[in-house]
Amino acid sequence: MMFSKTKRLQIITSPYCNNNCVFCIDNRLRGKLSLAVLTRDAAGTLKKMRGQMDRVLFTAGEPTLNKKLLELIVLAKKLSYKEIGLISNGRLLADKKFCQKLLSAGLNEISVSIHGDNEKIHEKMTRTRNSFKETSMGIKNLDFFKKKYHFNFFVNFTVTRLNFKNVSTFIRFISRFKVNGIIFNMVIPKGRALANFNEVMPFYSVVSREFKKIFKVLGAKNFSISVLGLPFCLMSGFENFAGNFEKIVTKNPGLKKNLAIKSVFPWGRKIKSLKCKKCAYTEICDGIWFSYIKRRGWKEFKPVNYYG
Ligand code: SF4
Repeated sequence: MMFSKTKRLQIITSPYCNNNCVFCIDNRLRGKLSLAVLTRDAAGTLKKMRGQMDRVLFTAGEPTLNKKLLELIVLAKKLSYKEIGLISNGRLLADKKFCQKLLSAGLNEISVSIHGDNEKIHEKMTRTRNSFKETSMGIKNLDFFKKKYHFNFFVNFTVTRLNFKNVSTFIRFISRFKVNGIIFNMVIPKGRALANFNEVMPFYSVVSREFKKIFKVLGAKNFSISVLGLPFCLMSGFENFAGNFEKIVTKNPGLKKNLAIKSVFPWGRKIKSLKCKKCAYTEICDGIWFSYIKRRGWKEFKPVNYYG
């Protein structure tokens, strides 16, 4: 049987979230999808897609709010999915027993979203009291269980205008835990991030300068660091940190058919300029968000030639 090495089945597990992030692109799920339909559909999709994929990710909005998550993980394990992953804001993982149940059910990859090394910065982003305390407790619990269970443990940091100056301190903060990697995601100018564009959307070039400064002096780490969403023309000197462009594809035929999922995700598109055609990276670069270019133009993005 042939499996796609680059694609992973993404299961939308909950339409709700217990945070209220200023940059959220999943907020459109609220009220559009029913938890019961999602759960039923998720189980069906897991079975249906097993023949084509052996990696699954439970995600969007906050999957741990679905009381059937554990059962879905057990089902994925029973179906012999090799990678069973979860993206979570980590707040409910502050409950050590719950955390352990997920891991012993078969979860073997967890990405926790945390957007600052302290309450003030993180909660400016989540706009939810106690979220830092609970998420960091979740991270501590996962750190604890690293001794007992075999799983990959990542943290996701969404880079916005409100927190990009915190990146360096954040790396130091996370170094205390047994993580496999930190993933820095440039905020996507869609959903709430588009509504709050000036507040949350940094200039790509300014963020690029910040990362360059940090990476120049960054010592060896025993975990990976990736930056997603910065175009290659702004990553010169730190191309090694460019994250893989893994295709996480929602393969959920039931949802698509029943709930017109396409209309739930009008995330817009990325575009390239005429000059991009001359760029060494044009084949692998997927361009810049249209909503960004519309407001800020192309002046930050200069084609890279083959000879540096
Ligand atoms: S193709 Fe365009 S946006 Fe992409 S790296 Fe090159 S210049 Fe930048």
